[in-house]
Amino acid sequence: METGSSMKIATKCVHSGVKHYEFGPIVPPIYQTSTFAFRDADHGARLFKGEEEGFIYTRMRNPTIEALEDAVAELEFGTKSIACASGMAAISLVIFSTTKSGDHIISGKSVYGPITTLLGQIFSSYGLEVSFVDTSNIEEVKNSFRSNTKLIFFETPGNPTLLISDIQVISKIAHTFGAKVVVDNTFMTPVLQNPLKLGADIVVHSMTKYLNGHADVVAGIVVFKDENDYLHFRKFSNHIGGVIDPFNAFLVHRGLKTLYLRMERHCSNALQVAKFLEQHPKVEKVWYPYLESHPQYELARKQSLGGGGMISIELKGGLSAGKALMNNISVWKLAVSLGGVESLIQHPASMTHSSMTPQLRAEAGITEGLVRLSVGIEDPEDLINGLEKGLSSIE
Ligand SMILES: *Cc1c(COP(=O)(O)O)cnc(C)c1O
Repeated sequence: METGSSMKIATKCVHSGVKHYEFGPIVPPIYQTSTFAFRDADHGARLFKGEEEGFIYTRMRNPTIEALEDAVAELEFGTKSIACASGMAAISLVIFSTTKSGDHIISGKSVYGPITTLLGQIFSSYGLEVSFVDTSNIEEVKNSFRSNTKLIFFETPGNPTLLISDIQVISKIAHTFGAKVVVDNTFMTPVLQNPLKLGADIVVHSMTKYLNGHADVVAGIVVFKDENDYLHFRKFSNHIGGVIDPFNAFLVHRGLKTLYLRMERHCSNALQVAKFLEQHPKVEKVWYPYLESHPQYELARKQSLGGGGMISIELKGGLSAGKALMNNISVWKLAVSLGGVESLIQHPASMTHSSMTPQLRAEAGITEGLVRLSVGIEDPEDLINGLEKGLSSIE
């Protein structure tokens, strides 16, 4: 399918990235090879000089990986993409490729926990200046740019608070400062939200989550609006080397085919579960972007086509109530990660966001009593019954 095709997204999920291959398979073959033979010495030399298109070595380019990269680029309305070994590898590639010592970057506060460690402890030890900002607050965003700001990175909805950041407004502000806008679209997927159409320059995903969708692969991707950014990043990727392998690329590409169907179900299940939780006497507060009680419900409706599959809740009994829920729930699995077909429950403060400093955690609104749910594609009645069993165990 050509990039920019006018097909609807459900069709694109099925067909994107698939080209014609020898023997006519309808699924891209798994080219499980590290290297590619040259026809003769001159052919090899021409490939290395870039005088001819072709494959040299899998760290640089591989047809199975390229099929997935083409597919995700098309779904995200980008020109090109680079698939990586994990979401963290994708985010590391963004930072390596866009910044050097002495530069400044802005990161959302409410982001995947290990990202705060990567930026605030690891990259900052190489001389990168990092500000963690509440990107749902536009005034705070405006005031955080400096003359050396190279990029702003955020997730929307934020993890795990599900606060919404306005991609369009932030992109306009960032561009007046000459900074790139990088949106982590893992929670929404291209089915629900298209940051590049709203003004962002780069989208990253942990494909470990919804894009693959079956909790059996760790992978990430960087998608570009501008092909020049891609070429610049590709040079870094070729030398840093955190690339995906062909078999995992095959699995993620396979997962994409059902992405639209899965997201429809994740959204409808999550809305039902969120409404159930909102009226439950043991629940203090529910955060879900498509609940009218969400502080940015209007923005969520404007920016995305669905609320997604993630819900965070605060129980009346705080952490001890949360523990009782997690230990007594049925159907739902107690595990970190998200975006798979099975429903998961976890406690951010002691699990996914435990590597954050307590101060940053508090500032980001991640309280001790917050419990995060990843709603799967099971029957919603079973999910609600499983939750009710856990909730009724709270003293
Ligand atoms: C999981 C996750 C990541 C990190 O991805 P990995 O594939 O685990 O390396 C980054 N951002 C978000 C929003 C995530 O949920």
